[in-house]
Amino acid sequence: MPVENSDLRNEVRHLLAEPELREELNGIWRTPPHGECPVPRLTYRELGRHGLLAPHWPPEYGGRGADVSAGAAVAEELALHGVPDSARVNTIDNAGTTLLTFGTERQRRRHCPQMAAGRVVFSVLYTEPDAGSDLGGMATRAERTADGWRLTGTKTWNATTADARYGICAARVAGGGDNAYAATALFVVPLDHPAVRIEALPTVNPEPFFTVHLDGAEVDDEALIGSPDAGWSMLTEALGLERTGICFAGRARRWLDQLVRALEARGGPGGAQELSRLDAEVTAARLLGWRAVADLSDGRLGAAAAAAAKWWNSELAQRVARLAWELLGPQGSPAFPDLMVAVREAPGLTLAAGTSEMQLSTVVTDLLDGGDPWEEPI
Ligand SMILES: Cc1cc2nc3c(=O)[nH]c(=O)nc-3n(C[C@H](O)[C@H](O)[C@H](O)COP(=O)(O)OP(=O)(O)OC[C@H]3O[C@@H](n4cnc5c(N)ncnc54)[C@H](O)[C@@H]3O)c2cc1C
Repeated sequence: MPVENSDLRNEVRHLLAEPELREELNGIWRTPPHGECPVPRLTYRELGRHGLLAPHWPPEYGGRGADVSAGAAVAEELALHGVPDSARVNTIDNAGTTLLTFGTERQRRRHCPQMAAGRVVFSVLYTEPDAGSDLGGMATRAERTADGWRLTGTKTWNATTADARYGICAARVAGGGDNAYAATALFVVPLDHPAVRIEALPTVNPEPFFTVHLDGAEVDDEALIGSPDAGWSMLTEALGLERTGICFAGRARRWLDQLVRALEARGGPGGAQELSRLDAEVTAARLLGWRAVADLSDGRLGAAAAAAAKWWNSELAQRVARLAWELLGPQGSPAFPDLMVAVREAPGLTLAAGTSEMQLSTVVTDLLDGGDPWEEPI
């Protein structure tokens, strides 16, 4: 299993230890209790300059031509170092993977090198006020115009939008038939478009959320990714790396280690038994995540395995954060500000990239080979 990638990890660690980057990252996490965490732009640009934001991409698009395990190793290192990673996940893992896999050569050349260099951030515009877990119910419409498309609808719970130049937007193609899954298209939408309005959403999450209104935003043909009936398979395929659960295991490890140190600083760890049990679980979670990465790398990551890894690792990270809250109390530990960030970030982990209930549902239906679980004998 290619867990180590030691040289690559050393490069990331070395870079993150540079004084300007440490200053940026320390500043980011030392936000007031309800402050919001911005995208660490300098850190992203430095990682990008060294080909470390997307090492698994081909060199001509800003990567190093490495295996997907290299991308997972970087993602894990960033989580272990407490680097906010929504912008990387949305830009590289999500929008970037989609463009790289399904975009035209022109789209790839235009966007991917900028993404991999950390110079452009993308926002993901999928969720709607009435369509989250079931995106088949999305109301955003894409209508054909003489030379492109007109997009109308509202997207919500979009992360990194204020820092993003573009959004990758899912919409239902008008006149595309009754089957929502066969009539979903993906578009690249410039967020400074005059018919796009962005509103901030109040949230406890440390990284801010936004609602994006598309008021008949007209885009040209170049904005469409792949064919207008293939959006559904594209958006599920791009969730692959996120659903290995590697980042969740990394967060769980960082938070647990900090919790132990915070308790030691108070004169002795309370909850020793629970801490030891969680320690073993976090080690196992990491292996579960890496097993999923190995399968992804071999092109055989099954839906049930990915869903199980995402479910287990995100729930575990949430349990670590809950224990920190219980043992340290609402004031946390001033020397370990990450733990208060953990308490604010943890609730969203079991919702983002598919809720725990949806992951469990995927495990069940996939294991039953797509059959209705209530009709099939177990
Ligand atoms: C940290 C974070 C970052 C996010 N970033 C983005 C982003 O960048 N872009 C974006 O578009 N969206 C983003 N989202 C939104 C996220 O994708 C949705 O919150 C998620 O898909 C769930 O949708 P929902 O909130 O509408 O909940 P709903 O789908 O309404 O679900 C509500 C509850 O019902 C349960 N439920 C729903 N259907 C079923 C079912 N069939 N069986 C059993 N239980 C069910 C769910 O598990 C959940 O507990 C983000 C969310 C979070 C928390």
